[in-house]
Amino acid sequence: MNPFDYEQATDVAHAVGAVTRNPGAVFLAGGTNLVDHLKLGVSDPELLVDVSRLPLDEVRELPDGVRVGAAVRNSDLAAHPLIRRRFPVLAQALLAGASGQLRNLATTGGNLMQRTRCPYFQDVTTPCNKRRPGAGCSAIGGHHRDAAILGTSQHCVATHPSDMAVAMAALDGVVRVQGDGGERGIPVAEFHRLPGDEPQRDTVLRHGELITAVDLPGTASRSVYRKVRERASYAFALVSVAAVVEVEDGVVREARIALGGVAHKPWRATQAEDALRGAVVGEQVFRDAAEAELAAAAPLAGNAFKVPMARNTLVAALRQLTGGQR
Ligand SMILES: Cc1cc2nc3c(=O)[nH]c(=O)nc-3n(C[C@H](O)[C@H](O)[C@H](O)COP(=O)(O)OP(=O)(O)OC[C@H]3O[C@@H](n4cnc5c(N)ncnc54)[C@H](O)[C@@H]3O)c2cc1C
Ligand code: SF4
Repeated sequence: MNPFDYEQATDVAHAVGAVTRNPGAVFLAGGTNLVDHLKLGVSDPELLVDVSRLPLDEVRELPDGVRVGAAVRNSDLAAHPLIRRRFPVLAQALLAGASGQLRNLATTGGNLMQRTRCPYFQDVTTPCNKRRPGAGCSAIGGHHRDAAILGTSQHCVATHPSDMAVAMAALDGVVRVQGDGGERGIPVAEFHRLPGDEPQRDTVLRHGELITAVDLPGTASRSVYRKVRERASYAFALVSVAAVVEVEDGVVREARIALGGVAHKPWRATQAEDALRGAVVGEQVFRDAAEAELAAAAPLAGNAFKVPMARNTLVAALRQLTGGQR
């Protein structure tokens, strides 16, 4: 690990100013992703600006929704009564991620910003366009069992690893960020980028912009998160589904769906949502909706299994949410 300076932010303006002024500075929150990258040589910052003790650790009710501070720990968020009651999909997604010890340190802001688990990205001896633009992609011709099947490019096929962000995308969450020039809100579904020809850019955040909160509108009490992984716990998603569905008289009134483990970002399944809205609930409708979404899938040889896996997981989530409803 190379030497670096450390500074504890005293307030939001201090944190934003310190990182904005220094191109070699980064924010540090729980450290569960960043510190690994310092040790592996994936990241080599000059200055760490610690934002974990800023007063951004509150979950509070808004007139129509809930605001989650960027420094709220994943375990506190999963256990919060407002989240458990109003957004079960989010509590389930958080509890499906990492381990208890990691969740006690990991924060909302850091979880959104965590980087891909592509093994070549983490191994600095191998070519990787995300780590070093122009170097090439080792995953395409190599090990790509975990890779993306939707929205890939010839430059990168990595997936975004967060469970929490998938749930927040289905909930129409809005990321609040503070930069040197002021504040802005970015829908979670637009926060992460597809790789295109700039896979080194994971998100639309500008250098120095600090995530201060995520706003979750309304209530989604009929919602679920399903995650398929190699082991029952402590493993990243092969495929996951976050679904929010409202049914009235046997007809789907509203459906909001996001998929995890299939793309460079939480994948909002708008084709499936369109196919579901106004349809009478039933197995064939669910299958048709999943097929509509996955028609654009372009898997590699080693991860083609994710296409039927995503279809079946989505159908199972819809069945679970609508079972017995008329
Ligand atoms: C063994 C292991 C298993 C895991 N399994 C899962 C899993 O199954 N599912 C899952 O979702 N996650 C999993 N994780 C990832 C874990 O959830 C993340 O490491 C964690 O959420 C990152 O949060 P942090 O606060 O520690 O971020 P840090 O490591 O401190 O920071 C991560 C990145 O976010 C940036 N950042 C932090 N806060 C802000 C902010 N407020 N504004 C702007 N940028 C910011 C930092 O600069 C850095 O680039 C796992 C991690 C490990 C080590
Ligand atoms: S998939 Fe992306 S992160 Fe993985 S090796 Fe290729 S460029 Fe790097």
